[in-house]
Amino acid sequence: MKLKVLIKEKEIKKRVKEIAEEIKKDYKDKNPLLIGILKGGVVFLSDLIRNLNFPHEVEFIRVSSYGSKSISDGKIKWIMKPQMEIKGRHVIIVEDIIDTGYTLKKIYEEIKKEEPLSCKICVFLDKFERRKVNIHLDYVGFRVPNFFLVGYGLDFNEKFRYLKDIRIIDLEEKYE
Ligand code: 5GP
Ligand code: MG
Repeated sequence: MKLKVLIKEKEIKKRVKEIAEEIKKDYKDKNPLLIGILKGGVVFLSDLIRNLNFPHEVEFIRVSSYGSKSISDGKIKWIMKPQMEIKGRHVIIVEDIIDTGYTLKKIYEEIKKEEPLSCKICVFLDKFERRKVNIHLDYVGFRVPNFFLVGYGLDFNEKFRYLKDIRIIDLEEKYE
């Protein structure tokens, strides 16, 4: 199986700690609500919160994109809406990867409708070359080239989420 490593576990751990420090600086006395996006964002979120040694709360949402499988077109469908009250909270949306940006932009707009006190975006991987919409990212783990990536929560047909490194998948190849 040829899955080339792009970002090693050690680098991931170091970067997650750094992001946690940045968030701590900005939110230490604000009891922020971290909203993780299922399923891909779950590994990053759980590592992140273990590095946040100050009070905060956690919520999850799940959406699916309409349209073709690999390209999102800006329409999302809620599979799981937030249950916790967002109004008046300092919200941080936590996502694994941003590609065109359609998904995060739509989620951001939906969350803003609930009138949070503030809303920031924390994304682990930024495939910046592929952006189609204008969106401000407040915390970014790594800027990455345009490859299909797996591991650290990211899947290919539900596989490979458990990999500790972030790896590049060759979409021409067959995988078991
Ligand atoms: P966007 O709406 O920004 O185009 O797409 C974002 C979503 O597409 C991510 O949340 C993720 O589910 C999926 N995605 C984009 N690029 C990759 C990738 O390289 N690997 C994996 N596993 N998913 C990706
Ligand atoms: Mg995702």
